[in-house]
Amino acid sequence: MDSITAVPTPRNEPVLSYAPGTSERAELEAQLAAYAAADPVEWIGSTHSSASATSEWLDVVMPSDRRHLLGRVAQSSRSDARGAIDQICATAADWAALDFDSRAAIFLRAADLIAGPHRAKLNAATMLGQGKTIQQAEIDAVAELADFLRFNVAYARQIHQVQPQSVAGAWNRSDYRPLEGFVYAVTPFNFTSIAGNLPTAPAIMGNVTLWKPAVTQHFAAQVFLDTLIEAGLPAGVIALTPGHGAVVSEAALVDPRLAGIHFTGSTRVFQQLWQTVGTNIAHYRTYPRIVGETGGKDFVLVHPSADPAGVVTALVRGAFEYSGQKCSAASRAYVAKSVWEKIVDELVEVTNGLSVGDVRDLSHFTSAVIDQRAYLKLSSAIEEAKASPTAEIVAGGQCWDDPGWFIRPTIVKSSDPNSAGFTTEYFGPLLTVYVYPDSEWDSVIDLIDSTSPYALTGAVLATDRAAIVTATTRLRQAAGNFYINDKPTGAVVNQQPFGGARASGTNDKAGSLWNMMRWTSPRSIKEALLPPRTIAYPHMA
Ligand code: NAD
Repeated sequence: MDSITAVPTPRNEPVLSYAPGTSERAELEAQLAAYAAADPVEWIGSTHSSASATSEWLDVVMPSDRRHLLGRVAQSSRSDARGAIDQICATAADWAALDFDSRAAIFLRAADLIAGPHRAKLNAATMLGQGKTIQQAEIDAVAELADFLRFNVAYARQIHQVQPQSVAGAWNRSDYRPLEGFVYAVTPFNFTSIAGNLPTAPAIMGNVTLWKPAVTQHFAAQVFLDTLIEAGLPAGVIALTPGHGAVVSEAALVDPRLAGIHFTGSTRVFQQLWQTVGTNIAHYRTYPRIVGETGGKDFVLVHPSADPAGVVTALVRGAFEYSGQKCSAASRAYVAKSVWEKIVDELVEVTNGLSVGDVRDLSHFTSAVIDQRAYLKLSSAIEEAKASPTAEIVAGGQCWDDPGWFIRPTIVKSSDPNSAGFTTEYFGPLLTVYVYPDSEWDSVIDLIDSTSPYALTGAVLATDRAAIVTATTRLRQAAGNFYINDKPTGAVVNQQPFGGARASGTNDKAGSLWNMMRWTSPRSIKEALLPPRTIAYPHMA
């Protein structure tokens, strides 16, 4: 088609309420019941050979009912992963040659399927598999994932439109090529939207992707892959390759065709991937682009002028929604003593009143943590806090692992601002609070900036404008997403582009123009319209 088309103007997908009596609630409840009653599924991803009898299978269970088996995932061997890489690399030329509108239409259709006929399916799979309440599933698996797809198509189009200047006698153009090779997308358990975004963002720019999901997110990952296929994604563009990260990486990171890594997960794993790329650097055909969003130790700073009611809401929602398993979750708070004295009773009452239970009961505020490993890490952190002379559990503190892995939202007040509660990412419903004398506002800012290696999200709560300005200025490098009088979670695509720096990642801002730019290797083309025919320059006369 010879035309310069305009892609549909993207708008953020509305978040539905699921209030009693709504049609979306009835549809969701029917889907939850159907999935829960179904026999366990056997998932093999897109690497067909991994269904072989010798494959290792891992169980996917409901975090809030851990004996409930949802399915089993075949773990790819190193040779399965190699086969998947060969498969996508064989498809790369055809995919890159397909015109942009045809590629874009597939992802726009996938977004409409997610927001329309597959909404209940993707929400129910995310709720059952990842332990999300409906509110948390809806803002993630539906709203944010549809937003990523629609906005990324628009950003890609914007990039294509950036063209160099042409001068008399020459026409200059930029050709936005995909990277030469494949992109390795490694995705976390906690967001269906991120798991969907990491393989598709490079694909929208014309790349092929090897997608290694987290086993605990596999149910929703598979529903999304099925949606992409229904939307028309050709086989071999995105290969869903479940497996142990280290095993799949043994194939992906030594392959000379590795052209990029799109990672979200822990800082430790990201650093391992980067180190391996460094070791193999002379071996690749092109320098791999490395994009990673990783851990956080996200803070809330409460100034003496803060509105007490707003502080309670920001702390409770910021720390305990999805049981604190968001990279952006507030896990350390610095509260002025005068404010703490006003809020502590209400904060404790609200926190202890949060209902925690099975995701199928829509009345709960939150549910279980993702797996046994997370449960053991969090329960032992709580035991350590109970035993510490500098810490006091002021709310929560209870843990039970039957029928699921439950940790009650817990607040620890600590008088040691350098203790583990302020430096370690526990990734759960555990908030550590340091109550500072009002007169130490100035030094507490330095404390926040220097205590943790991360710089993902942070918030300042204050009504005094000078205090807001001071915190915003002095904490400039301490968070990639900074909030004023709000909780530090809940970034929305195209409103608060998301990502952090320092140990929290490369800050390429998922779902943004900047991220999409990483998946193209522009070629500059100069065409001389009237090529010169003499060799001599005037000064030679
Ligand atoms: P994780 O690092 O344990 O796992 C992430 C992915 O890496 C999984 O698919 C896992 O199987 C894989 N993996 C593990 N070892 C690997 C290896 N050696 N090679 C290749 N892949 C390997 O993280 P998680 O528990 O799934 O997610 C939680 C973490 O993710 C937290 O640290 C959180 O802060 C972070 N996170 C960050 C953001 C962000 O935008 N900054 C968003 C979501 C989650």
